[in-house]
Amino acid sequence: MDSLWSSAEAAACVAHYAARGVSEDLALRTYSARLLGGVPSLVMHGGGNTSVKTTAVDVYGDRVPVLCVKGSGWDLATIEPQGHPAVRLDPLCRLRALDMLSDEDMVNVLRLNLLDSAAPNPSVETLLHAFLPHKFIDHTHSVAVCAVVDQPDAEAICVQIWGKRVACVPYIMPGFQLARAAGAIYEQNPDVEGLILLKHGIFSFGASAQQSYERMIDLVSAAERYIEARQQGLRAIAIPAGRTAVSGADQRTAARALSLARGAIGRLAAAEGAPGCWILDLRNGDEVRRLVDDARLAELARRGLSTPDHIIRAKDGPAVLPAVQPAMDESAWLAGVERSLAAFASDYKAYFARNNARVGGIKRPLDPLPRLLAMPGLGLAGIGKSAADAAIVADLGEAWVATLLRAEAIGRFEPVGEADEFDIEYWSLEQAKLGKAAEARFARHVVAITGAAGAIGAATARAFAAEGAEVALLDLDEAGLREAAGRTPGGGSLVLPCDVTDAQAVRTAFDRIAAHFGGLDIVISNAGAAWTGMIAELPDETLRRSFELNFFSHQHVAQAAVRIMRAQRLGGTLLFNVSKQAINPGADFGAYGTAKAALLALVRQYALEHGADGIRANAINPDRIRSGLLTQDMIAARARARGVSLEVYMAGNLLGQEVLAEDVARAFVASATLTKTTGDVTTVDGGNVAAMLR
Ligand SMILES: [Zn+2]
Repeated sequence: MDSLWSSAEAAACVAHYAARGVSEDLALRTYSARLLGGVPSLVMHGGGNTSVKTTAVDVYGDRVPVLCVKGSGWDLATIEPQGHPAVRLDPLCRLRALDMLSDEDMVNVLRLNLLDSAAPNPSVETLLHAFLPHKFIDHTHSVAVCAVVDQPDAEAICVQIWGKRVACVPYIMPGFQLARAAGAIYEQNPDVEGLILLKHGIFSFGASAQQSYERMIDLVSAAERYIEARQQGLRAIAIPAGRTAVSGADQRTAARALSLARGAIGRLAAAEGAPGCWILDLRNGDEVRRLVDDARLAELARRGLSTPDHIIRAKDGPAVLPAVQPAMDESAWLAGVERSLAAFASDYKAYFARNNARVGGIKRPLDPLPRLLAMPGLGLAGIGKSAADAAIVADLGEAWVATLLRAEAIGRFEPVGEADEFDIEYWSLEQAKLGKAAEARFARHVVAITGAAGAIGAATARAFAAEGAEVALLDLDEAGLREAAGRTPGGGSLVLPCDVTDAQAVRTAFDRIAAHFGGLDIVISNAGAAWTGMIAELPDETLRRSFELNFFSHQHVAQAAVRIMRAQRLGGTLLFNVSKQAINPGADFGAYGTAKAALLALVRQYALEHGADGIRANAINPDRIRSGLLTQDMIAARARARGVSLEVYMAGNLLGQEVLAEDVARAFVASATLTKTTGDVTTVDGGNVAAMLR
């Protein structure tokens, strides 16, 4: 591992922040914290923490010694100076004389001594930083170090790797007692460059930001060299490797397996009183495959995660599902998945009961669902309440894989035991990190939208994303798709260029959606185009082209969606843009209107045949919307033909108001919320007596 320290960059950082009133100490603290945070094999997703001891001027004008330490909620990779809030140092140091300090009292005394009462809570490891004398202190959960400290004979290996450069601290949960132990061990070994926390991670320290940072890199590199000399066929640590694109039959297999698994998780979650929709994130890099295809997977998966810090997000390891094969008996595989998940949940409940009894029965159980799925033949999937959350869990899963493989290469992977895991998982200070914000209405839901580059499709994508949904955007127009994705909140949309008149292309795109998010909940089948001409004179070719897009494409989309929804057995929602022409034909629009009328019949057919699957099919019936279908030229021609202005033409309805693409988007969202409505048509036209259904 190379040092990324650059004196020029450090100086530029100091100058940049000096102009904003930030001290040199805090600017350099920010600079090297980011260097550490940018390397996932050192620090992931809010993990690790850093500090600097300096001085600050308080409200009385007095210059006081302070510890600027990482605040909770900040990520080292993107930390700003205010991410290291200042805490008065002297009151913290006085705490060392106490024999006991409860977590509540610790948090209270940290908050009482903040210079800024609005600052975030200082890290739970603040006292460890305070009790060591060094100016700069860095702490990471390095993969290489964890592979060493998660060993039965870790202390002996530490001596081999680092000699007297470090001292080892036995595993103690973060907080006051760990801080005291670390302080005492340091004082017995005052020449060390860092502390190794068994089953946990590493601290380095120094008189300058550069010294502390470079000691971290140097100590971690020594662990890497030790592992590299002994590992079998593993390359340098490169995590997260992320997704490896799968295509063809592999993508189809992944889509089927994930849809079946997502449904099984959803049903188990609902039975346990948890939300029934989850997003999956599949990882299938070389190291992940090496572990999930290992004959010892079931046993290795039960050993625990590499550092306690990851347990709150990823539980103590994956649920191991039956092997995935391209041509497998799906119902037998699903039955095996259900057994695996039920066994995981019952083991988790037993783990909770055992350990809750140990601590006096004071804890309330979290849901017993796994957050990682290990699938031989396929990979490792993270499970989360959003795509972003699932990706974080999958990253931590990859860190577990990388650590475990290296630990097994040099000895035996033996992370912290069950009781310590429980104490971390059920520690109120850790649970507080997860946040309990109310979820948006369509959070956890996957929504696919066709014609997403057009005005209505793009507005609908924005509307669902604003309600928390994960969205997949399909359209023939790739540039338009990217623009629509750019304007969709959240930034995580899946962009799928696709000709919806090609059944195979639609099936491939929907496989991609299921392989990416784990499944599908709502489809907005919206793509369409109008061909004009008097029906008696219309070339067959024109009529057939209109039916291909305005009827058959909807059938391709619905077929592909139903296939996924039936695999999940979680129900689903199919929404179609049928247009006013399906009900109230217009002259010259026969090619469009007849296909849309057939589409309305298709909607009702899906409602009829798939109600028993919990799949609802409804139509939205918009009219006179400015879009690719109703262009400015067409609007101008129609307004001229009626002898009215453009504005009067567009507002020519009972409410006297133009209907916008956003109004249609709202109708799609509203229809998706009506869980007891199927076979229905919702009209969005401002009111038109001739187009009224009843
Ligand atoms: Zn830690």
